[in-house]
Amino acid sequence: MICIIRRILQTLFQKDGLRLTGIQLVELFKLLFGIRRHAYFDYNATTMVSAGVRKRMLSVLKKYPGNPSSLHECGKMAAEVIEGARQNLAEAVHADPSEIIFTGCATESNNTILKSLFDHYYPAKSKIISLPIEHPSVVKTLEYLQAKGLDIQYCPVDTDGRMQLNTLEKMIDDSTFLICCMLANNEIGTIQDVKKVVEIASKRGIFVFSDCVQAFGKIPVDVKTLGVDYATFSAHKVYGPKGVGALYVKKGSPIAPLIHGGHQEQGLRAGTESVHAIAGFGEASQSIDKHVAHTERLQKLKKLMIKEMKNLRKDCVVYSPEKNCLSNTISVRFPGIKNENILAMLNYYGIEVSAGSACSSGDDKPSYVLKAIGLSDEEARETIRISMGSYTSGKDVAYLTKILTCYFRGKALYVNRISASELNVLLSSDPGIVVLDIRPEFQRKKLQGDSRFKVILDREIEKSLNFIPKDQHVVVACETGQLSLLTAYALKSKGYNRVSSLKDGIRGWYDK
Ligand code: PLP
Repeated sequence: MICIIRRILQTLFQKDGLRLTGIQLVELFKLLFGIRRHAYFDYNATTMVSAGVRKRMLSVLKKYPGNPSSLHECGKMAAEVIEGARQNLAEAVHADPSEIIFTGCATESNNTILKSLFDHYYPAKSKIISLPIEHPSVVKTLEYLQAKGLDIQYCPVDTDGRMQLNTLEKMIDDSTFLICCMLANNEIGTIQDVKKVVEIASKRGIFVFSDCVQAFGKIPVDVKTLGVDYATFSAHKVYGPKGVGALYVKKGSPIAPLIHGGHQEQGLRAGTESVHAIAGFGEASQSIDKHVAHTERLQKLKKLMIKEMKNLRKDCVVYSPEKNCLSNTISVRFPGIKNENILAMLNYYGIEVSAGSACSSGDDKPSYVLKAIGLSDEEARETIRISMGSYTSGKDVAYLTKILTCYFRGKALYVNRISASELNVLLSSDPGIVVLDIRPEFQRKKLQGDSRFKVILDREIEKSLNFIPKDQHVVVACETGQLSLLTAYALKSKGYNRVSSLKDGIRGWYDK
């Protein structure tokens, strides 16, 4: 209630006093009639830090200022915090604490495994077999190593994103030293039969590495039952802080540091540890079972959401498999509608979803994960990812379906997108047109702007509203046409009725 009152006052007391525009009136109406204003559906990108984790981190920041490598009491106390967190994470994944190494993020963990194993084996052995739908922190590292001589082979997946185990067996040869098989996929949610992969690999004496980042906190993860040699984890996917990850290395498996320096983390990850972040990871690990217990509830919400979406649009296609899939993840396509349109519209209504993985947002390439399961570029660009978590409620789902209903019935706010050729016509026919170039400086260096464009960085739009005329046609332009759409929606909500976004961005405009 307090939140609603605050929003009402914020809406009323804007710069132009009590004068409300039509859109502000709609906003006010929505608030008064209790239409919810925020629903987060991007848990696979990151989760919010839980209250317990926040409390633990603040207390560690306050009480344990020492450097864990120092020999004095203050240092020893900080070291104990780290060892406690190691114990917590080890218990959560059924490992021995000595098998857990803390890192700066899961990307670093994945890099450490792949680069150190390559150095260990190459040139005696040169082949890694991987899923083509691994996270970019695996795929890009493999590509980096390929340039150094690695033979990287991708085992095909079926339309559900499942590894073709028969093919895998045939792909293994004497030069193979590692198989990468993520436990759960971040975009479509497919859970792999990692245990079976380990069975196949161990017959040939090959190591198995499983990126467990998305599975952890959503399904039980037991590294011993899975039998993997290496596994990776990230705190921010399990209601912990960003900037801390971990690496499981089965006792006796080869591993070497990626970062050289001090002797921290058994000499495997140099650099003074982020004690409070590691403590937060430890705290989050203690609540893993609590988060996993949401599976059934989320499965029901997922079913409901899919049913509602199919009622709304019979032609919508769900790519997350029905079986052996994360209960929180829905990959869905609405044919004929670019994902960036839906994403920007939902964002305007306070709903966060994603198009592909967070790592590729801002990039206009179609998702390689969706392409690997058989989608065309066009289809991949029409697919959004909705991911839920422990704090997702039935009300959130109802709000999302309500807004989608408005959108498909033509009742939601809509921002026009214009093509490069339409912009050219406008530039020569409308002397009052304002083109807002919101690209960051580094992108502008690559491609010089046009003098007719007003340059305002996206983050400075709010401060620059006085310089953007409300009565002229305003075209927002970014590099690819994605961010500009979000900004155009924001301007529309501030009373810019003649606002459009440049489809395909300035890059596309230059190409014309
Ligand atoms: N692996 C998977 C499957 C992921 O989904 C992510 C993050 O999205 C990562 C690795 C990278 O994690 P981090 O953000 O900790 O580097």
